[in-house]
Formats: sequence, structure tokens, C-alpha cells
Amino acid sequence: MFFSRTLIPTLKENPAEAEAVSHRLLLRAGLIRKLASGIYNYLPLGLRTLRKVEAIVREEMNRAGAQEVLLPAVQPAELWQETGRWQIYGKELLRFKDRHQRDCCFGPTHEEVITDLVRREVHSYRQLPLNLYQIQVKFRDEIRPRFGLIRGREFIMKDAYSFHADEADAEACYQAMYEAYNAIFRRCGLTFKVVEADSGPIGGSFSHEFMVLADTGEDLLASCTACAYAANLEKAEAPAPAVSGDAPPPGPPQEVATPGVRSVEEVAAFLQVQPQEIVKTLIYETEAGPAAVLIRGDHEVNEVKVRNLLGATDLILAGPEQVRELTGAQVGFAGPLGLAIPLYADQAVAALPRMVTGANRDGHHLTGVNLARDVNPVRVADLRVVTERDPCPRCGRALTILRGIEVGHIFKLGLKYSQSLKATYLDAEGREQFIFMGCYGIGVSRIVAAAIEQGHDADGIIWPAALAPAPVVLIPISLTDAPTREAAGKLHDDLEAAGLEVLLDDRDERPGVKFKDADLLGIPWRLVVGPKTLEKGQVELRHRRTRETVFVPVGDASRFVREKLSQELYG
Ligand code: ATP
Ligand code: MG
Repeated sequence: MFFSRTLIPTLKENPAEAEAVSHRLLLRAGLIRKLASGIYNYLPLGLRTLRKVEAIVREEMNRAGAQEVLLPAVQPAELWQETGRWQIYGKELLRFKDRHQRDCCFGPTHEEVITDLVRREVHSYRQLPLNLYQIQVKFRDEIRPRFGLIRGREFIMKDAYSFHADEADAEACYQAMYEAYNAIFRRCGLTFKVVEADSGPIGGSFSHEFMVLADTGEDLLASCTACAYAANLEKAEAPAPAVSGDAPPPGPPQEVATPGVRSVEEVAAFLQVQPQEIVKTLIYETEAGPAAVLIRGDHEVNEVKVRNLLGATDLILAGPEQVRELTGAQVGFAGPLGLAIPLYADQAVAALPRMVTGANRDGHHLTGVNLARDVNPVRVADLRVVTERDPCPRCGRALTILRGIEVGHIFKLGLKYSQSLKATYLDAEGREQFIFMGCYGIGVSRIVAAAIEQGHDADGIIWPAALAPAPVVLIPISLTDAPTREAAGKLHDDLEAAGLEVLLDDRDERPGVKFKDADLLGIPWRLVVGPKTLEKGQVELRHRRTRETVFVPVGDASRFVREKLSQELYG
């Protein structure tokens, strides 16, 4: 590969629009270019890395027994209406009409299409199990596309869907995918953590996310410092607090005037109590009507847990007018006493012997409230976000909160889609049964960015060997010196003959410019050919990550690089 004949538009300056390191370096190294918000062109070297990720994914999926297919990007609305997702998917679903005014969408995911295929083609238990995957372009009209390839609108996903005669077989496949995913991300050279993820109404431990650890990650995860427990913060369990032995406060709650005092901190300071004795009453609107959620003042509500407990698809905090209508007071003074809507309390609230709540009257709070004694039936559950102050729910040791980029997600679907789309098979006794399903996604283009978030320094990208656009960049110090030029040409051909991709920087540029670009591009090995070293029959090899430099005989260069690379790739 010749630099002068390849489109590699490197940039000296940092592009102003890029916040994340990976976005900045993908642009600066000339790997991608933006066409529109969240929509990118892959240039030759960017595409090479993308193809390497794809190849690893393909190999491991095939090894795990999955079969590759390619499904259409454009999907008819009818299928989405059958599952009900045409209504509930929201604005992320890019919808349009064809020339016959038929509603269509650009696929953000393919459960509908694949289940439709399988319901038409699979009829007998003899055709199961089946695990079908594709590597394909998805479109999601994300509300906030950002960080370049990390959250695009158009992106490349590997999505797999498995079909089974029974639940046990679906679970075995889930386990096989769990292992395949570990192999994929290991081979991609990523440092990652597998976390328990929210599985919505299905529940149980049948959803895991694969998180690349990075400070720019949009996901938060709770990870135990001692045992193997790790979970997405959305899912991480808060321990049930010991119920206090303290007697409830004597007498009924007292109403106190707290004029203009609204936030937890203000109320705590005004009433001279600890924030954990103050209870926030959050009013939500759901499709089934309003509900109130009680959370301790020093805790944050976990809306995923609330949504799951309520079985709600829509969950939004009520606005000031709705709050006034339901509580008779402004936001900041709501409380559970006398509130005629379903009440839910976090378990830490239920454990409080006494608490301060809003009085449902402007400028007033109640002190000395006891939930069991004073408040209408309340459903108690774990409804809050865990913090680093909480112990691990498994072993009781310390938790730490980390940031991660979700690169993969495996999910047990159960009968959700087979029931709504009527995908059935006949069992050995000739009875019609619904097919059990699982789905397994990988953010192929997101991996390219995640690898850069983990591998970079002030000079540019540091690719893991498996993902580099090429493992070697070859830099002749001078193009006018005939022996140098010839040696470089021969090395280029030798390396390629040995099966190593090599980028020969044959541009008419100063060596300093080439070195800078080689560092920016993050190519693992830099091979420099110059008159001085050639006189000694040597070439210079420098490793991008360690910056270690060695001199090797010209004839040994390709063997040396091959050996080093296979050490890096296969350990
Ligand atoms: P996120 O929470 O990041 O939006 P998701 O839960 O919507 O992800 P899935 O529907 O499980 O994602 O999709 C499978 C994989 O596709 C994700 O694990 C992620 O790696 C990738 N992915 C999802 N959305 C995007 C996006 N907008 N840009 C790039 N990759 C994405
Ligand atoms: Mg999403």
C-alpha cells in the first residue's frame, strides 16, 4: 500500500467539533469524515480497521455455530405494527413512505424481519436450533448523536438472533454467545468488563452488557472491588438496609412552616436534620396514570427500577401543573400523607423510623412521619441508584463506580417476538409451540472508536495489533537516495509476500512529517530505511506503544515483525 496513492487526509489541528479523543483522532488520522450529524464516510484506512473488527466477529460467530445472513435495511411498517413497536419505538425509528405511500422504516434492529423469516421457513423441531447473524448498517435517529462513531445515527452492528424449541436450549445458546463475545473482545485487544444489565420485564440474569472501560463512557457500572459482581448502574442492586429498632416518633406528624425552603439541602439546614431523614416524593406520569415514588434525600431514584416495578413503558416526571393538581402544592412540597395515587417507597425509606416529607401545602413540611403508621398502603422495593458508599450486594465489600462504553449486549428474549409474530413449530408429538428466542448485538463501528479511547497518547492512536489498518508503516528517509529507495521498495514487497500489510510512506515529505503521521495513525511497527543504517546493512524498527527501537539486519526485518506480531496477537 502506497501512502501517496491512498486517501489518508491527516490533519495537523484538532477539529473543533470533536469532544471525545476517539472522534478527534479518527478525523485527524483521516480515517473517517462526517457527511451529516451522526453519519460518517469511512476512508480507506478506517475501513481497513472496520473490516478487521468484522473479521474477528465473523470468525467467532461462525465458530460458535451461528450462520451469516444479510437482511434488508428497509423494512415495511406492517411487521412493526404486528409487534406493536411501530407505535412505541418513538422518534429513533426513521420512518418514511415509498412511492406507493406505503409506510416503511430504516431498520434500527431486526427482530421483526428475522422472526418473520423464521416463521415462514421453520415448521418443525427438527429445524431448530438456529442462530442467524448479520453485519449490517443500522439507522437510529438518536436524539444526541455524539463522540463520532460511539453514538452515530447510521452505524454498523452485528446482530444475531437465535431460535430454540425450549428454554433450556435458549439458555445454552446464551452461554455460548457469552463465551464468543468474551473471545471477540479479547481478540480485539480491548479491556472490558461484563456486567449484568437490565432485562426489563423478562428479569432474571439473562442480559449482559460488554463494557469497554473508558472515562468517556456514557454508561456507569457498579463493580465490586473484591468479588466478580458487576452490573450496569441501571440494574445494580442496593442492599436492603437493616430496619431500625427505634420506636416511631410519639404522636402524629407535625406540620412546620418552611417558607421558600424546597431542596433537600435547604430543608435539612432549615430543620436541622440529616439529609437522609428527608424523603423526596417524586410524582410520575405513566400510561396507567400518576404514581408517587419516595426516595431518601441523600439517594437518587433509579427510573429503570421504577419502570420495571410499575410495568410502565412511559415514565415521566410530572410537570408543575400536574403536581399542583395532584398534591395541591408547588413542586418541592409533595408528600405521601393523604396523597390519593399509588405510592411506592424505596426500601431505605421504609427502614426509617421517622422522616420529614412535604405536607402537600405550599411552604410546609411534615416532621415525625412514620411510613407504616401514617401513610396509606405503600409498595416497598429497591428503587434507588447504588453509590460507592453501598456494599456489594453479593459479598458486602466495597463497590466502585466505573464508566464504560457498551460494545455488546446479549439478551434472552423468551417468547416476546414469537408470540406477537406467531412464530411456531411442531414438536415431536405434533403439537404447535412458540419458538424461544435470544438476541445478541455488537457495535462493530463503535468498537473502532472504543479501541482508540483505550489506546492513544499525545501523538495519536495506538492500535491493538489486531485492529491496526496495517501492522507496519515503512518510511524511507530519502527518496532521492537510490539505495534507500530500492531497499524500501524491496522491503515493501518482502513484507507483503510474507502476508504482512504494509503502508509505504512514499510521499515527498520531510522524515519528521512522516514520523508524525505514523504516530498519529497508530501503526504498531515503524520501519525506517535510511542511508546511514543501510551502510551497516540494517533497518530501524520502532514499536508504537513502547517506543522501543531496535536495529535489525535488512533481511531479517519481515521475520522479526511477523514474530513480534504473532506474540502480540496470540500471546
Ligand atoms: P445504547 O444504550 O448505547 O444506546 P442500545 O442498548 O440501544 O445501546 P442495542 O440495541 O443493544 O444498543 O444494540 C447493540 C449494540 O449496538 C450496542 O451494544 C452498541 O454497541 C451498538 N450501538 C447501539 N446504538 C449505537 C449507536 N447509536 N452508534 C453506534 N453503536 C451503537
Ligand atoms: Mg440505544
